[in-house]
Amino acid sequence: MSDLPSSIDVAIVGAGAAGIAAATRLKQAGVSALMIEARDRVGGRAHTIPAAGDVIDLGCEWLHSADKNVLVKVAEQHGFTVDRGTPGWTGPASVGLPSRDHVEYRKALEDFFDAVEEAAATGRDRPASELLPKNSRWDKLLRAVATYYSGTELEHISIIDFDNYEDTRINWTIREGYGAMISGAAKGLPVAFDCAVSRIDHSGKSVKLETRRGTIEAKAAIVCVPTPLIAEGTIRFDPALPEKQAAAAGLPLGVANKIFFEIGGDFSYPRGHFYGATDRVETISFDLFPRGRKLLSGFVGGAFAVELEKGGPAAAEAEARRQIVSMLGADANKRLRFMRTTAWRSDPFARGGYSSALPGHAGDRAVLAAPVNGRLFFAGEACSKIHFSTTHGAWETGLNAAEDYLKGRKG
Ligand SMILES: Cc1cc2nc3c(=O)[nH]c(=O)nc-3n(C[C@H](O)[C@H](O)[C@H](O)COP(=O)(O)OP(=O)(O)OC[C@H]3O[C@@H](n4cnc5c(N)ncnc54)[C@H](O)[C@@H]3O)c2cc1C
Repeated sequence: MSDLPSSIDVAIVGAGAAGIAAATRLKQAGVSALMIEARDRVGGRAHTIPAAGDVIDLGCEWLHSADKNVLVKVAEQHGFTVDRGTPGWTGPASVGLPSRDHVEYRKALEDFFDAVEEAAATGRDRPASELLPKNSRWDKLLRAVATYYSGTELEHISIIDFDNYEDTRINWTIREGYGAMISGAAKGLPVAFDCAVSRIDHSGKSVKLETRRGTIEAKAAIVCVPTPLIAEGTIRFDPALPEKQAAAAGLPLGVANKIFFEIGGDFSYPRGHFYGATDRVETISFDLFPRGRKLLSGFVGGAFAVELEKGGPAAAEAEARRQIVSMLGADANKRLRFMRTTAWRSDPFARGGYSSALPGHAGDRAVLAAPVNGRLFFAGEACSKIHFSTTHGAWETGLNAAEDYLKGRKG
């Protein structure tokens, strides 16, 4: 959209999954809504790009809890192909973790989940690290895997929040890319691009949004941005909303990043998943030939991901190659062409990967999601009590916020 309308019914701040869901629902209800997006594209942390004659997802990739995931139907309605295959990372590792060890490690992981569930049932919150098995051989790998789940270390994770997360353990993908599907779902919905919002004035009967391209007036606004943008006051509210800022600060984004290599020539190594090491927290989770693609993709989380991101692509490539050599050997390493790495922490409109609640802050999700005066609504993955950190969670919160607006309008 080149010219901004001066006034609309609903301004949706952020055209990620949550914003697109809200815009979709409002369009169905015949309400005029505009997504106001800081970037020059929709999708936010859902972003597919072409690569190596195929596509790669720089952000979300897996339809988690796929058998219940609201986006499976949305994907199929928009003509995307849902791949119901099983991910390599849920099965035994192809190298570096013999099957007996894998069974032992999985048992340690399940015991940890059980311990969290039992402790959370008492209602007393504490850091999830306190539930790790003592003197376990698998301590480092459990800690590493937790950083893939949550983007941060177990010391910073509330057990109540961790336990609230609903996971049916069925994970599917979208052939054309998860990011491509989310932006496909936005087709035909009005968006103003390059239009970062800096201030939301909700002191009067209408809401005034100050953006990089001018001011827009709306009857209501649905704010769908990642938590750091609220917590750090990048978007200022007038009057101030200290309870929203505090809630957003209690739900910081961890960091998750990916490292991609293209596989050249003959490459006779076992397909599937492996860890770059099983005896250190600083380990990369690798997928070799994911879904048949000639790729090796690596996944890192938490403090290790922050450290690699600070070092830039060269540091990530060097560390990935070091771990690949130790697992597959120097010959395999020579056949890999470094493609790219992601840097979600440095992305000014994301500032991280996905949210987790700090110990004592599981209730902040409901505080963040609560509407203000029937004019301001909030959505985004961090607002979901049970599907936080995911794209389908973000989508559901966008639908809920739109529904809240529609109910208030009728009442
Ligand atoms: C590496 C990685 C892997 C992941 N893997 C998975 C996965 O496999 N499965 C899964 O379900 N989830 C995964 N996720 C998480 C998932 O991508 C997110 O939870 C989801 O995309 C969040 O959607 P959202 O709408 O809440 O936020 P976002 O997608 O971040 O959308 C927010 C939008 O607001 C815009 N914005 C920011 N500031 C402003 C401003 N001032 N003014 C206007 N617009 C603004 C942003 O540009 C963005 O478009 C992954 C994330 C990462 C980073």
